[in-house]
Amino acid sequence: MDLYEYQARDLFEKHGLPVLAAAIATTAEEAHAAAIKIGGKVVVKAQVKVGGRGKAGGVKLALDADDAREKAEAILGMVIKGHIVRTVMIAAAAPIESEYYLSILLDRSNRTFLVMASVAGGMEIEEVAHTAPEKLAKIPVDANAGIDLAKAQEIVKAAQFPSDVAEQVAHVLLKVWELFKSEDATLVEINPLVKTSDGKIIALDGKVTLDDNAGFRHPDHEALVDHAATNALEALAKEKDLNYVKLDGHVGIIGNGAGLVMSTLDVVAYAGEKHGGVRPANFLDIGGGASAQVMADGLSIILGDPDVKSVFVNVFGGITACDAVANGIVQALELLGPKATKPIVVRLDGNNVIEGRAILAKAAHPLIEQAETMDGAANRAAELAAK
Ligand code: GDP
Ligand code: MN
Repeated sequence: MDLYEYQARDLFEKHGLPVLAAAIATTAEEAHAAAIKIGGKVVVKAQVKVGGRGKAGGVKLALDADDAREKAEAILGMVIKGHIVRTVMIAAAAPIESEYYLSILLDRSNRTFLVMASVAGGMEIEEVAHTAPEKLAKIPVDANAGIDLAKAQEIVKAAQFPSDVAEQVAHVLLKVWELFKSEDATLVEINPLVKTSDGKIIALDGKVTLDDNAGFRHPDHEALVDHAATNALEALAKEKDLNYVKLDGHVGIIGNGAGLVMSTLDVVAYAGEKHGGVRPANFLDIGGGASAQVMADGLSIILGDPDVKSVFVNVFGGITACDAVANGIVQALELLGPKATKPIVVRLDGNNVIEGRAILAKAAHPLIEQAETMDGAANRAAELAAK
């Protein structure tokens, strides 16, 4: 889960990182009140989960509370890279002398954590990496060893931070590591980390991604979920413990095993080219033990998607054999009754496939069509969706 800037800021504060006073507002009046409370010059910042808000006009300096109201009025409702701004953060303004960059992230391809640090902050780090790679230090961090003071100092030195801030930045890095580790983050980014005109180091903008797989260790993270922005079908799937991702096509997909479902998406997209560019409507992995209830849950989510015109159930019987899955499909359709309205192409293969196909044939449900092969099923499902 990606956090909003204000949530990242609060997490920074919780872990002792230097931040400035701030509050959020959803109306210009609230922004005015917040600016009075903070006092002096403030920055009005759009809260959207995309970078480059500054360039898009979503970050504005306000001289006083009246000005903050005006700036909030302008920023609220703005659309930044497809995201509507519904909330702004009002933060005390900092007199900036220098802007730096600091992040810790999970480096999947190298199976390690990685610190990136640069004295060229403020702009997008991809740009620094591209135009001045020598200004971006990238230092792997061993998950077991972590970052101690010596390691932090080594990183600060490698990134060539000026000597007057080196010690402060090293301590900030220690705290970022502590946050990264204890909150189970996969990304903590501060851009810019600034040096103010009185020599203080402050985290002015933060981006944090928390690892949802570690959610069970962090009951407090639930409060950070933006339910209003979550797709309703995805929310329902999560409630049912299903791995579901909404996509923008018209063929509903159900399969068992992430790898099989991913290849099903490819095969459907490929077959869809012959039928006017029909594409998959979702990813849904019902896992190995596909009981009737799980199949019913999965089918009902997919049939509840108005974009879905046909469904492709692609199951390779393994530990859960095809006959059990076939019984699951039949029972699921009984459970759903009149709620099941779209054609369903089923391809069964693997363990007990003969028995499985016989069960579906015997049930002779008017919505179900069987296909022998994955390609054949994909083609038929795409054809039905294109009708
Ligand atoms: P982003 O564009 O989404 O990354 O938003 P940031 O929060 O990083 O802000 C973009 C830029 O606005 C920063 O790099 C700063 O140059 C400027 N900025 C942000 N906050 C302040 C502030 O408190 N004072 C001043 N003077 N500039 C700020
Ligand atoms: Mn930024």
